[in-house]
Amino acid sequence: MKKPELLAPAGNMEKLRIAVHYGADAVYLGGKSFGLRNLADNFTTAELAGAVAYAHEHGVKVYLTVNAYPDNDELVALTQYLQEMALIPFDAYIAADPGVIETIREVSPHRDIHLSTQANTTNWKSALFWQKQDIRRVNLAREMSLTEMEEVRQRTTLELEAFVHGAMCISYSGRCLLSSVMSGRNANKGECTQPCRWNYAIVEETRPGEYFPVFEDDNGTFIFNSKDLCLLQYLPQLVNAGIDSLKIEGRMKGIYYVASVLRVYRYALDTLFAHPERYGCEEIWLEELCKISHRGYTTGFFLGHPKDVDHQYHSSYIRNHEFVAIVQDVLPDGTIVLEVRNRITVGDTLEFIGPALSSGFHKIGEIITEEGQSVPAANPNQRIVLRVPFNAERYDLVRRAKFLATQ
Ligand code: SF4
Repeated sequence: MKKPELLAPAGNMEKLRIAVHYGADAVYLGGKSFGLRNLADNFTTAELAGAVAYAHEHGVKVYLTVNAYPDNDELVALTQYLQEMALIPFDAYIAADPGVIETIREVSPHRDIHLSTQANTTNWKSALFWQKQDIRRVNLAREMSLTEMEEVRQRTTLELEAFVHGAMCISYSGRCLLSSVMSGRNANKGECTQPCRWNYAIVEETRPGEYFPVFEDDNGTFIFNSKDLCLLQYLPQLVNAGIDSLKIEGRMKGIYYVASVLRVYRYALDTLFAHPERYGCEEIWLEELCKISHRGYTTGFFLGHPKDVDHQYHSSYIRNHEFVAIVQDVLPDGTIVLEVRNRITVGDTLEFIGPALSSGFHKIGEIITEEGQSVPAANPNQRIVLRVPFNAERYDLVRRAKFLATQ
């Protein structure tokens, strides 16, 4: 068995540090242009150089997304952008548009290119076509089943990448006009406002304002709203199918999402390769994934076409834990410096989550600011010092259980 790479999103420098800390083998990120996810922070050219240096120091590969579909009048800017990017030693481009691929070849002929999910590769012949174009890796469409992925593996030799976790589009990954039409934000330019998650009704065209009584339940009618993909239980099948890279979706998501998903998949994958003969997906791993804000989990198309249970019939995000702080430093005397992101008060029980599923609980008896002041509560962006009865590391995240089940 060949151990696949674990590929995580890194929308900004903080997410990159978190992805490295929690065990990513590689990250994907965007510059300021042509990378979709225009609503994410993304990196300036200078930041990108620093990000690649940081990742490489930690043995982590970096793939740069240039997966937009540019118009004619953007092609000059595209070439200029790629010339700028040519100076940065990231490991591969992620592209979808043949014109962009051609321009990368002209500017950086020796740089590897991975085919983006935006190219919608749904069959082996398409993968073979891209192999003949010297594409190093193809991202298999989320609309493919395990059996179909296996057939692509048998008929091609290029690297295969598959999504294992994250949001699903109701359309073929981003090939959708809903956002353009309803909010003027073009999904194919990375600006999707996700109207597929909104509440819909039907109106007959000659009776404007009269809503046809479509009723799913008291929460509303969410006819386009998919659950989130989760293939944690199928890691052995993905490995046996010869998938080279397991991709986590979410450049727009926060650091708590990146950390929480990565630490579970990292631990499961390492366990599978350490003890393949007695491996089994443990309930506690799935419970961990349920401590992240999500919309219910589905295996999507992986086991065959989705059924109605794979759809989310209400808008509620399941959110039973909240991220409250990040460990920014561990001092020589063992005390830790926490940067607060969500108000903490005396009496709160906090959980420190580290890589490899390590975890420690601590009830806050007193809050001391960095200036040595005792305060009843700490607010976002404040730094506090704390002593905890277990080891914590820089960039460990801290969360708190919520009593509210949904939001
Ligand atoms: S509106 Fe929904 S289905 Fe369409 S591109 Fe955005 S996330 Fe995907």
